[in-house]
Amino acid sequence: MQKYFNDYGSWIRSKFPFKVQKIAVDAGFSCPNRDGRISRGGCIYCDNRTFNPPYCNPGKSVRKQIREGKAFFGRKYPDMKYIAYFQAFTNTYAPVGDLKRLYEEALQDSDVVGIVIGTRPDCISDELLDYLAELNHRTFLVVEYGIESANDETLRLINRGHSFKCCEEAIRKTHERGIITGGHIILGLPGEDANESLRQAPIISSLPLDILKIHQMQVVRGTQLARMYAEQPFHLYTVEEYIELTARYIQFLRKDLVLERFVSQSPPDLLIAPKWGLKNYEFTNLLMNYLKANDIHQGIILE
Ligand code: SF4
Repeated sequence: MQKYFNDYGSWIRSKFPFKVQKIAVDAGFSCPNRDGRISRGGCIYCDNRTFNPPYCNPGKSVRKQIREGKAFFGRKYPDMKYIAYFQAFTNTYAPVGDLKRLYEEALQDSDVVGIVIGTRPDCISDELLDYLAELNHRTFLVVEYGIESANDETLRLINRGHSFKCCEEAIRKTHERGIITGGHIILGLPGEDANESLRQAPIISSLPLDILKIHQMQVVRGTQLARMYAEQPFHLYTVEEYIELTARYIQFLRKDLVLERFVSQSPPDLLIAPKWGLKNYEFTNLLMNYLKANDIHQGIILE
């Protein structure tokens, strides 16, 4: 079958002989971009209420959250195995001893076959990476970095509190240790039009990343971005525009880069715009149809 892009579903199925499901875990971390170490405002689009599904609550231990996550997913697939996804806030923002305890607590559950750690590129130390390299020999491990943009001007505007160079270094050091390395970017950030995104695509593709998540810009209630949007509305992509841009973007991405997602879905009551009303798989179907109709493939421009 012809492959239009290197999809995460096929990739993860190739890694395990059984079905796996991610369980989001909120281990109660903070974020240096919110607690004052870097800033108190956070990234202008950030609202951590959008991070967590209902079973996930930092008041509960990691063990309990995993048990409840398993009960939630296991009803449908009793033989399912799980990957603990440390997702909310910055999941490497604590002393290494505390981090080890929390990650290892997740792995104590016999149905947990791996962990994914979402974090900022400025919250990773050599000491932690050395421990993660050792952990990587014992379990399936992904470290996922918020990159968001390859443009320092945009990173300043969205108050990320780190540069693109910082992302490059963290990704390189993680990759050098043989750890599967993921990245997250947003298309449609304020100040970035389609041409700017397409300028950045080869730069993102040149990073030693294994997995990429691409998200559309969303304006969420209660954020600094929502205030900016109310004062001076800026253009947010229609679904048609975003499909066209995503299709053009992936032409610049290495064929071996695994593409995990193209959209995120903030809870409808928190989302101000854009209101596409599409589930993840519905968007992927629309994108697939577009790719087929226009004979577009990931990496075609690099050939
Ligand atoms: S780094 Fe993540 S958790 Fe911290 S403010 Fe930005 S989006 Fe929010």
